Amino acid sequence: EPDPTLRPDPRPEDNDRALRPQYLADFIGQAEARANLRVFIESARSRGEAMDHALFHGPPGLGKTTLAQIMARELGVNFRMTSGPVLAKAGDLAAILTNLEKNDVLFIDEIHRMNPVVEEVLYPAMEDFELDLVIGEGPAARTVRIELQPFTLVGATTRLGLLTTPLRDRFGIPTRLQFYTEDELHEIVTRNAVKLGAPADTNGAREIAKRARGTPRIAGRLLRRVLDFAVVEGDGTITRELADMALTRLGVDHLGLDGADRRYITLMAEHYQGGPVGIETLAAALSESRDALEEVIEPYLLQQGLIQRTPRGRMLGQRAWTHLGLTPPKPPGQ
Ligand code: ADP
Repeated sequence: EPDPTLRPDPRPEDNDRALRPQYLADFIGQAEARANLRVFIESARSRGEAMDHALFHGPPGLGKTTLAQIMARELGVNFRMTSGPVLAKAGDLAAILTNLEKNDVLFIDEIHRMNPVVEEVLYPAMEDFELDLVIGEGPAARTVRIELQPFTLVGATTRLGLLTTPLRDRFGIPTRLQFYTEDELHEIVTRNAVKLGAPADTNGAREIAKRARGTPRIAGRLLRRVLDFAVVEGDGTITRELADMALTRLGVDHLGLDGADRRYITLMAEHYQGGPVGIETLAAALSESRDALEEVIEPYLLQQGLIQRTPRGRMLGQRAWTHLGLTPPKPPGQ
């Protein structure tokens, strides 16, 4: 079984907080998003206005929450946080919105999982900073309008495609977060090692960066686990050899794939001759939810060219065959 702590869980039990960068200047990577945000923050600050609403989308663990917190800090306003599935009733959102102070940042994680009734309340709030609340029921029901303080909504989603068009259209700043390069992750691991007081030499840090699936949250987790091995089985220093030994024992291979990733590509190779296979078939065969495959497992496999998405289903890429040490079947007619 793969170590579940290696998955970029949206609500990590490990305390991520210690490793979170506090200011835009400490935030590594996402250069384009960072440069644009700097301008929007600066402009909103100098005008004394709320920044426009921003939507961060991309796989889990890439820094959506972190960027939203940084925005609030740089804007000098409060940061309030909730998530789509938590907001069950219109009143839940209304209670949060009416408590916001001028220009605050409200972060809604997993915004694609918001109840449609709650979403309706959000539209006038985002557009005009107004709430239309229905008081009472039946013939006695009436609508009251409540003025809100101007605020910035920051929405985060792993599934842009699941957002309704009206919601999507209300964000002035849509931003896609990308997987991090090995160099960026190397920098992040090096800084995190200092924060954790973990001596890591440059090759040790690089080995972790290489195997972190392009994801800072995974880099943070792997660093902590490798540190455990360094302390117990080494002399406390994270070297390349030690990192390699620890990561291999954790089931993280040289491409950074863990057990779940390998099960996916192995199944495609061994049972479906590399595809095409439908996503539902894969989900059933792997006993994973379709959402988990699409949100967590597939984005990195796609980015690495290990799989491809085609209209007829998923296909195994040449790189995956090589990685598995297998030969792809000959295409028919050759
Ligand atoms: P998301 O909201 O996209 O799931 P988070 O913002 O919660 O991701 O980030 C997950 C972890 O990765 C946090 O511990 C955070 O400190 C770290 N992290 C994310 N982006 C960066 C970055 N650019 N530099 C350093 N650490 C980062």
